[in-house]
Amino acid sequence: MTTHKPFDLPSLKKEFHEKLQRANSSEELEEIRVCYFGKKGMIQDLMGALRSAPKDQIPLLGKEINIFKEQLIKELEQKINSVQEKDLSAALEKEKFDVTLPSRLRTQAHPHPVLETIEKMTDILRSLGLKEVHSNEIEEEMVNFDLLNFPQDHPAKDMQDTFYLNEKMLLRTHTTTFQVPMMRRYEPPMALFCAGRVFRNEEVTSRSHQQFSQIDAFHLGKGVNLSDLLSLLKLFYKKLFGDSVLLRFRKSYFPFTEPSVEIDISCIRCAQAGCPICKHTGWLEVAGAGMIHPNVIKAGGHDPAVFTGWAFGMGVDRTLMLLHNIPDIRMLWESDARFLNQF
Ligand SMILES: [Zn+2]
Repeated sequence: MTTHKPFDLPSLKKEFHEKLQRANSSEELEEIRVCYFGKKGMIQDLMGALRSAPKDQIPLLGKEINIFKEQLIKELEQKINSVQEKDLSAALEKEKFDVTLPSRLRTQAHPHPVLETIEKMTDILRSLGLKEVHSNEIEEEMVNFDLLNFPQDHPAKDMQDTFYLNEKMLLRTHTTTFQVPMMRRYEPPMALFCAGRVFRNEEVTSRSHQQFSQIDAFHLGKGVNLSDLLSLLKLFYKKLFGDSVLLRFRKSYFPFTEPSVEIDISCIRCAQAGCPICKHTGWLEVAGAGMIHPNVIKAGGHDPAVFTGWAFGMGVDRTLMLLHNIPDIRMLWESDARFLNQF
């Protein structure tokens, strides 16, 4: 075995150049790198062969191999750079920005339909002279029930009906909770409303949910009477549903009003011809109202012999469902973009 054969660097270099010239992609260049400079590559073979070379030739051969290796690495790097540059300009060429292309439409966000309905309803109340105030979603049981004249054993106070946070605090079950704190804060006359979410521990179905929104309002002052309220509600519903809407009042019961009335409007879907939404009665129940109970006025720190007041409460979700013919209340809280984008 001659010493020059395994170390025939000119031939190896020629072969390397040929391979390098043929390679046109990063993958092919990577193959060459592994083949020559990898752990089992050609340079390692040369270094291995060096150990069996005649001792006097080792230093010189070692030096030559190192120079040879440096040269090859340099040439490989140059080729890698030129291929990468070529790839980059090809990619840029491919992705060239075409100013003549129409722009992609972006989805514009908008308020949730419940919020839009609250805005619509409260805008009308503002236009009728009422002032907006805010109230807590987490409330004392006392404010939610007792101060509103609920009897001690009222079923609505049951743990099964309401979400209690501890023995005293709960998630408000109605926005009526704002009445007594506001009466304590302000002197009559006052005409205020409050809108927001309320919570009930109910089974979730197409018609009932554990959270929904309400708007409550009251007017406390001297000589305030029920006919004021009825005129105001007529105006309110005509502004909301149109001039042709009719109202009727039915006697009802709420702990915090006396007398109490239930308010129905003529069905806005069938104009009283009868349809599934009004259960073929021609009427839709939309709000509860009445004169504020003397005990509530007392709890608010005022004399019911001097001041009287009306109050009403209405559901937002039901109004929204009526306005847009939405069959299932759950759709309002599922955050399905296909549903929400229709508003
Ligand atoms: Zn109807």
